[in-house]
Amino acid sequence: MPSIEPLFERVAIIGIGLIGSSLARALAAQRAPAGAPLVRHVALCDRSENVRARAAELGLGQSFHGDVASAVRGADLVMICVPVGAFADVGAAIAGQLSPGAIVSDVGSVKQSVIRDIGPHLPDGVHLVPGHPVAGTEHSGPDAGFATLFQGRWCILTPPPGTDGAAVAKVSALWTAIGMSVEVMEPSHHDLVLAITSHLPHLIAYTIVGTASDMEDVTNREVVKFAAGGFRDFTRIAASDPVMWRDVFLNNKQAVLEMLGRLTEDLAAMQRAIRWGEGDKLEALFTRTRAIRRSLIEAKQA
Ligand code: NAP
Repeated sequence: MPSIEPLFERVAIIGIGLIGSSLARALAAQRAPAGAPLVRHVALCDRSENVRARAAELGLGQSFHGDVASAVRGADLVMICVPVGAFADVGAAIAGQLSPGAIVSDVGSVKQSVIRDIGPHLPDGVHLVPGHPVAGTEHSGPDAGFATLFQGRWCILTPPPGTDGAAVAKVSALWTAIGMSVEVMEPSHHDLVLAITSHLPHLIAYTIVGTASDMEDVTNREVVKFAAGGFRDFTRIAASDPVMWRDVFLNNKQAVLEMLGRLTEDLAAMQRAIRWGEGDKLEALFTRTRAIRRSLIEAKQA
C-alpha cells in the first residue's frame, strides 16, 4: 500500500488547557484506528508538571515538555494555546528555535494583538497564520477538553497581508480535518465581530453576576434558589476562565469599548421605554431578537 504523508510531521501545542488538550485529543482520535495520521508527532508543552503528567496519562501526545524551546524544536507547526496576554513571552521564547518554513499559529480569542505580539519575534521564512476556533466551554484545564469540541464549528484564520498561501491552506486543512469550517478574515474585522458575539456577552454576564452578588437585600441563598429565572445562564458564562477573559478585554480594548458604547445607548433606550410605558417598543425589540435565535438554530450554531 502506498504510504500517505502526514499533513504535519511535528506539531507543538503550547498550553494543555481546554483548547490545547481538545486539539490534542482531536488529533489523537484522527490517528485511530489505523492509517495515515494527520500529524506524525504531537509535542505537548505546559509549564505545570502536574498538567504534563496528566496529559501523558491521558495519552494526548507523543512527547511532553516543560520548556517551550524543546517543544518547538523541529516542529513544522507550532500552535499557541495560552491566554493572549502570554503571547509576547511565548513569541520571544520560540523565536530562536523555529525551523525555516515552520508555521506558527494559535487559537487566541483576539487576533490583532497576536500579530502585534508574535509577529516581530518570527525570523524570515517562518509563516504566521493566526487562527481562532470559535468553540469552547466555561471549563479550563486538560480534563475539560474533548475530541469533538471543534466539530461543526467555525474556525477563523486572520493571516496578515502577504502571508504564504500554502501555509494558510495547511492550517486550514488541519482544522477542516477535525470537523471545522474555515473562514479567512481581516484581523480587525475578527476583533470587531467577536467583540459583539462573544466578548460583550461575557462582560455582561460577569457584570450581572457581580451585581447580584453585591446586592445586600438579596441573600446568596435566594440568588442560588431562584437562579432559573435567566440568571442561571449568565452564571455559566460568568464561570469562564478569569485569566483568559482578563486578557481578552485588555487586548481587544478598542472594539469592546466601541460595542459597549452602542450597548449603553441601547440600554438607555430600553430604560426610557420602560419608564414611559412604551410597550410597543419593548415588544418590537423582543420580537426581532426572537427571530435571531431562530436563525441561529437553523444554522446549527445553537
Ligand atoms: P485554559 O484551559 O485555562 O488553559 C490555558 C493554558 O495556558 C494552560 O495550559 C496554562 O498553563 C497556560 N498558561 C496560562 N498562563 C500562561 C502563561 N503566562 N505562560 C504560559 N502558559 C500559560 O484556557 P483555554 O480555554 O484552553 O484558552 C487557551 C486559549 O484559547 C486562549 O488564548 C483563549 O483566548 C483561546 N480560546 C478559548 C476558548 C474558550 O472557550 N475557552 C475558545 C476559543 C479560543 P497551566 O497548565 O500552568 O495553567
